[in-house]
Amino acid sequence: MRRVSIFGATGSIGQNTLDLIARAPDAYRVVALSGGGNIDQLARDAISHRAEIAVTAYEDRLPDLKSALAGTGVEAAAGEAALIEAASRPADWVMSAIVGAAGIAPGFAALEQGATLALANKESLVAAGQLLLATAASHGARILPVDSEHSAVFQALVGEDIAEVERVIITASGGGLRHWPIEKLAHATPEDAGAHPNWDMGQRITIDSASMFNKALELIETREYFGISPAQIETIIHPQSLIHALVGFRDGALMAHLGPPDMRHAIGYALYWPKRQDLPVARLDLAQIAQLQFEAPDLARFPALRLARDVMEMRGGAGAAFNAAKEVALDAFLAREIGFMDMAAVVEETLAALSKELTLSNPLETLADVLAMNHLARVRARSVISVQIKKT
Ligand code: NAD
Ligand code: MG
Repeated sequence: MRRVSIFGATGSIGQNTLDLIARAPDAYRVVALSGGGNIDQLARDAISHRAEIAVTAYEDRLPDLKSALAGTGVEAAAGEAALIEAASRPADWVMSAIVGAAGIAPGFAALEQGATLALANKESLVAAGQLLLATAASHGARILPVDSEHSAVFQALVGEDIAEVERVIITASGGGLRHWPIEKLAHATPEDAGAHPNWDMGQRITIDSASMFNKALELIETREYFGISPAQIETIIHPQSLIHALVGFRDGALMAHLGPPDMRHAIGYALYWPKRQDLPVARLDLAQIAQLQFEAPDLARFPALRLARDVMEMRGGAGAAFNAAKEVALDAFLAREIGFMDMAAVVEETLAALSKELTLSNPLETLADVLAMNHLARVRARSVISVQIKKT
């Protein structure tokens, strides 16, 4: 039996992972499941999957979790330290699907105990790419990408030599506001930006798709995970979300990965790797699709893409700062303190305000360095936002 743990089990990726595991319950022993405030869901899943431990991120919710699990034999725990302790429990395969920088430390803990880390939490690679890969290497652990684009690139590279790759193209749907005139974007609300045309995902990544901050994170993620240069990484708008990525080789061949927009494909590939298994995803009917559409991204609409280029060049602490500032800007947008287009302005100003620290931080050597940069950038981003609010 394979021992598996799922961090962020109550979210969109976590629930899709449990869906796959539930189809072959005898093949797995669930060690840890984690969630946030959705205690009923967490307790229900922990009981039905007979998990060893369930962890809520919020310490004040521990009494609720304890009473929901009373008499079931499932341990209850809460808070950051408990998450790390749970991630350190021996497991063969660990899904990292917490949203945001809160997912970084549990991922490191899972690698340090030698687990295979199925990585949906792209923030880990953006904030700590080189260190994360080095940690996996020094503990004989492995990281498998679960972002659909990166899983697609990973699959296109099977049997290939990375030195023969000329370029990697990751596709972007263009998000929920793709048809909006650019001058209207400044007035988009969280509700407007929170609906995705193709993918059913958590609220934060859905808004990041509309602003293309999600694609910006993914460009950096591509650079870090595959170790190719920024100039080799491109993005293209493909509104149908059927091609997830393409890899171009030195002989001009372009290998595309197609599939329906269903994360159970990328999760399942990481779960069964290096084999393939039947997966409950729809099969594409190419005659019915008839045409595939593409368009170049407009950098004026999506300043996040331009900022990602700078971050890919700077490296060091820039990824951690970029991600942290983006998370704070997204919180402020959700709280209606700033507008949709202000998010990129906040991130850009935060990076500029940190330019001295960023030059000194190259590279980040420990997890503590990563978390310190994450913290510092949050503080700076908050002050950039207060200045912006005062101006308006
Ligand atoms: P979600 O919002 O649906 O779920 C997030 C999970 O993290 C929940 O279990 C929540 O309880 C937990 N969580 C939230 N804040 C936390 C905190 N401070 N500490 C600990 N746990 C916390 O998000 P999602 O859409 O499932 O995305 C999860 C991750 O996967 C993100 O990094 C996202 O970028 C990535 N991802 C998601 C998709 C997708 O299709 N949903 C695709 C690719 C990558
Ligand atoms: Mg993606």
